[in-house]
Amino acid sequence: MTNKYVYLFSEGNASMRNLLGGKGANLAEMTNIGIPVPHGFTVTTEACTKYHEDGQSISKEILDQIYESLAKLEEATGKKFGDNTNPLLVSVRSGARVSMPGMMDTILNLGLNDIAVEALAKLTNNPRFAYDSYRRFIQMFSDVVMGIEKRLFENKIDEIKEKKGVEFDTELNADDLKTLVSQFKEIYKKEKGEEFPENPKVQLVESIKAVFRSWENPRAIVYRRLNDIPGEWGTAVNVQQMVFGNKGETSGTGVVFSRNPATGEKGIYGEYLMNAQGEDVVAGIRTPLPILKLREQDPVIYEQFENIVNTLEKHYKDMQDMEITIEEGKLYFLQTRNGKRTAQAALKIAVDLVEEGMLTKEEAILKVEPKQLDTLLHPTFYTEDLKNATPIAKGLPASPGAACGKIAFSADEAKERAALGEDVILVRLETSPEDIEGMIAAKGILTVRGGMTSHAAVVARGMGACCVAGCGAIKVDEEKRTVEANGKIYTSDDSISLDGTTGNVYGEKIKTVTPEILGHFATFMSWADEIRKLKVRANADSPRDAHQAVEFGAEGIGLCRTEHMFFAEDRIMAVRQMITSKDLEQRKVALAKILPMQKSDFIGIYEALEGKPVTIRLLDPPLHEFLPSADEDIKSLANEMRITFEELKSTVQDLHEFNPMMGHRGCRLAVTYPEIAEMQARAIIEAAIEVKKDKGYNIIPEIMIPLVGEIKELKYVKDVIVDTAKKVMEEKGVTLEYKVGTMIEIPRAALTADEIAKEAEFFSFGTNDLTQMTFGFSRDDAAKFLSAYYDKKIYEQDPFGKLDQTGVGSLIKIAVEKGKSTRPDIHLGICGEHGGDPSSIEFCHNIGLNYVSCSPFRVPLARLAAAQAQVKNKR
Ligand code: PEP
Ligand code: MG
Repeated sequence: MTNKYVYLFSEGNASMRNLLGGKGANLAEMTNIGIPVPHGFTVTTEACTKYHEDGQSISKEILDQIYESLAKLEEATGKKFGDNTNPLLVSVRSGARVSMPGMMDTILNLGLNDIAVEALAKLTNNPRFAYDSYRRFIQMFSDVVMGIEKRLFENKIDEIKEKKGVEFDTELNADDLKTLVSQFKEIYKKEKGEEFPENPKVQLVESIKAVFRSWENPRAIVYRRLNDIPGEWGTAVNVQQMVFGNKGETSGTGVVFSRNPATGEKGIYGEYLMNAQGEDVVAGIRTPLPILKLREQDPVIYEQFENIVNTLEKHYKDMQDMEITIEEGKLYFLQTRNGKRTAQAALKIAVDLVEEGMLTKEEAILKVEPKQLDTLLHPTFYTEDLKNATPIAKGLPASPGAACGKIAFSADEAKERAALGEDVILVRLETSPEDIEGMIAAKGILTVRGGMTSHAAVVARGMGACCVAGCGAIKVDEEKRTVEANGKIYTSDDSISLDGTTGNVYGEKIKTVTPEILGHFATFMSWADEIRKLKVRANADSPRDAHQAVEFGAEGIGLCRTEHMFFAEDRIMAVRQMITSKDLEQRKVALAKILPMQKSDFIGIYEALEGKPVTIRLLDPPLHEFLPSADEDIKSLANEMRITFEELKSTVQDLHEFNPMMGHRGCRLAVTYPEIAEMQARAIIEAAIEVKKDKGYNIIPEIMIPLVGEIKELKYVKDVIVDTAKKVMEEKGVTLEYKVGTMIEIPRAALTADEIAKEAEFFSFGTNDLTQMTFGFSRDDAAKFLSAYYDKKIYEQDPFGKLDQTGVGSLIKIAVEKGKSTRPDIHLGICGEHGGDPSSIEFCHNIGLNYVSCSPFRVPLARLAAAQAQVKNKR
């Protein structure tokens, strides 16, 4: 049986997204529900995968199917490829399963050659239009398909404009464009060593191959990694009859949304340009008009347009992002998709669609990307500081949030300076897909040109980065590296601030603040909480973080890293003294200093949690993070300890480890120095007794022993805790309930979890270490070589960011099963970084963990991801 690799739009439907890509599936769906869509066909994602598997070659089987569909397209349109009276012209566009804006390449006006262009000129009675289309096509084909530098063509356009003394492309006439066509062909011949292909079939096949190749271009790969899109999906290619928005004043093109993608406000929103092609709107070269103007310009078309927009929104039950073209008074929809939107808009739309009866709460929960919530938790300007600031310019509010940083003039510069820890704002005339890494690195993005649908705006919204676009009021000199605004010059040493919600630009530093969860956000999150089964806790080590976590909806603390309580300048000395003590006596002196600090922190945390559960982990410091290294630090510590500098320096050298991450840390520290565990257990229990007495909260501390690999070491440390707790309770004359459990972060612990569970009342999966130990990748060093693994497609994702469900996940499943076999009611959670990653959270839901724990800022994300996991996989 032969595989079907090509589908006419009339043969597909919306459910075939995996095979036809999002764009292809929606074009098919629109065709079938009677929306005016230009005819076309889709070459499947499987054809893309096969093309790459076959060593970047397109098989005869696929070619035959393309030609067969082309013949059907010619029949449906009554036009023919390369015809001298009625030529067929097509667009060739990529379309993956999920949309990747600006990431892949598009070719328009394909099918033009020396014969077809004359026919088009006659047919439209518009030679200027015909030759303009032709020169655009040669340019695009040469650049996108053949990799010839764009600049070579642009230079020729500039030359001819200069010669004629005109400013705009639109001022060139048919003869000028004809001259350009022949000059462009010469460039092609010179660069490629062969004539420009006049045969439209060759043009088509080469273009399809180029789209397939673009799936593997560096910016597509970066975008995929950023958005968790697997490389194996491939992209489909859509071949569609061209309709022209640049045929004169009754033609036009637009990009429209069924609701406002920045705010979520109900009502059609978008931009259009008469006498223009789609790229003119998207590239932001000419400034488009708001779509409502079309109502005045052509009420009949507008009404038809409005009806279709409403039909599409109801059909897809979501906000739609559509491309339209009007060709000589006839309206076409070139594509529709669920629109990208800001987090604010996503929440408003989800809540509104439930209130309008279009969606159930469960369906609405799936409409917001968990990672998007992040942007809402990001700073806004401090109101008092903002009051005193005056904007130096105003652009379009392209992506909300507030950002402040020094000016960077290129994506590379932004990337480099951000890597050195500097906050930067990327300032550009306009951005292009090559800029993606700089856009990720920058705190905010400011562009001079472009509308709400320009590249910078779309990509920034997708990433949740603050962006002000189309800010024509500033002058950027990329060569001199200056920004001129309001009569003043700013350089890379100057800070500016952007307000992506209003479009204001400020020539100074403005303090930012973290927002609260209110309005639609709060309503939406309350639905997520109703639905989810998985609890969400936070990793927090200070009363301040604990407060923040509770504010973001944490139901307790899943990991309090006690060693983090000692990073502060005034405390580290005591810890260093504890670590470098030569004997028990010296250590006890240090511990006596630490005990009251620990106790007061625990009191603060218990109070912030108001009785919610809290897991406190015993000290787990990789020694190298705490040891003094500078002579100065060693000297002052030696003074404090009343020993000589030399003596202490030699102790520090003795403590040096070759592999500190696998060294003297975790419970190994408590095994060698039980007095440390004793001090910590005392602080935990005493603080709980005090807060319970003073505030009446029922605190049940969960004491967690880290880095356990063997039941006997767990038992040893647990005995120290139990003895100490007993002693404290006797001293205070009260009883207090508490729990002792362990982290599972060493493969041996997972494999022997049935034994470990006999002593542990709970497990918390420390997937940072478990990943490190399972892969044998050092947590500290892996980043240095992992990029080579991504480039070579050995791994697509950082296993420290997204749980490796196959390997590390298997160990977790084994531990859950074995743990339950000896302690059926064992309480289970995760506290590694993966506890804040949506796909990892879904995994935790599916294997039946009780909770996930993540950093406070990821708590809302985790609440939503847990609800989505429940909707997708009922538990
Ligand atoms: C872990 O290993 O996953 C963990 C949470 O502990 P830490 O990151 O402190 O080693
Ligand atoms: Mg760990």
